Amino acid sequence: MKLEFREYRARKIVNIHKHVDGPWFWGKYSARPYVGCRSGCEFCYARGSRYLGRRDPNTFDSLIQVKINAVELLRKELSRLEPEVIACGDWQQPAEDRYRLSQSMLEVVHDLSFPLYINERSPLLTRDLDLLVEINQRTWVGVAFSISGVDPSLKRAFEPRSPGVKRRLQAMQQLASAGILVGTSLMPIFPFAGDGEDHLQDTVRAIKDHGGSFVLAGALTMDGFQAERTLQAARRLGPALVASWRKLYSWEPGRKPSYGPPRPYNARLGLLIRELCARHGLMDRIPRYVAPGPLAVNKRVAERLFLKTYDLELEEAKDYRIWAYRKAAWVVDEWPQSIAQVYQTQGEKGLQAMPGVGTNLAGQIAKWLREEGIHRDERLESQPQS
Ligand code: SF4
Repeated sequence: MKLEFREYRARKIVNIHKHVDGPWFWGKYSARPYVGCRSGCEFCYARGSRYLGRRDPNTFDSLIQVKINAVELLRKELSRLEPEVIACGDWQQPAEDRYRLSQSMLEVVHDLSFPLYINERSPLLTRDLDLLVEINQRTWVGVAFSISGVDPSLKRAFEPRSPGVKRRLQAMQQLASAGILVGTSLMPIFPFAGDGEDHLQDTVRAIKDHGGSFVLAGALTMDGFQAERTLQAARRLGPALVASWRKLYSWEPGRKPSYGPPRPYNARLGLLIRELCARHGLMDRIPRYVAPGPLAVNKRVAERLFLKTYDLELEEAKDYRIWAYRKAAWVVDEWPQSIAQVYQTQGEKGLQAMPGVGTNLAGQIAKWLREEGIHRDERLESQPQS
């Protein structure tokens, strides 16, 4: 298949997310140097129109648009932002061999002292190991290598041109040996094809054996053009699989297609991964990086609130309960003043006054603060607030 590179000057490069993406990758920003990917994985969400715009989605793996000014833009935009975790770069080949934009973007992240998160399928990332180690020493680096499991038939069917899973695991080992927090984004897990306990157990064991610390699991999602490509590829594993997916995702004539599997499916999968991780001494979430400073306590408490939303998802709790924790997590995470100070000077009433934090959650947060050694100090109540 012919491959074309098309260079252009982008107008901006940093996406600023409305909220940090807890309890998943903890990123506040993201920046990518290329649009399109030669690996052309059938399930890739980046085939969607949200990422490709008006481009013909069939060109996703044959036309790579290159933001030739990515590095200067990144420096300019990041220098105006508060340092929070940025998901950055794309080590896809051959684009990165040729342009080295991701490598140069790492230099910017290093110079400006931003913490860094990388989600990657390409072992080429190890080329920049020295730089990653330096960023890790200065702030923090977390890396997730993406795999769908260790069954070679899945790779053959859905991602025949991506780098081999063994090479990704070896790259993981190399990063772990250099002291970098590394694990997997075990995504997408294929319902009825890659979600059996034995396969997942083999996969988690391989991750552990290669120095991985965490597993973030997520089932296949289905969206427009990408869904049809993925269903087409699933035929390689038999017509029964296609039929089961059409049913699971309501991807059938006359029904409203769903983006993901039903909640009970996701909850069962999450619990199974949690159990397998516990068996092998891994985490099923990434611990959040929190920079030191007066607002660190807000970030730590927000992390606990975010993690609670995930626990509730696994329990299949009512939506309103999950949303209560999620909204409180956003509010605490973005509160401009230390919540420790709020609690010390105003007690639980001060926490309750924050929008979205009611009586119950204020009590919960106060308990966590006390566990950190932060107590209400009635002597401060009458003092003016800074
Ligand atoms: S390697 Fe990653 S970005 Fe490229 S097609 Fe596969 S999933 Fe998409």
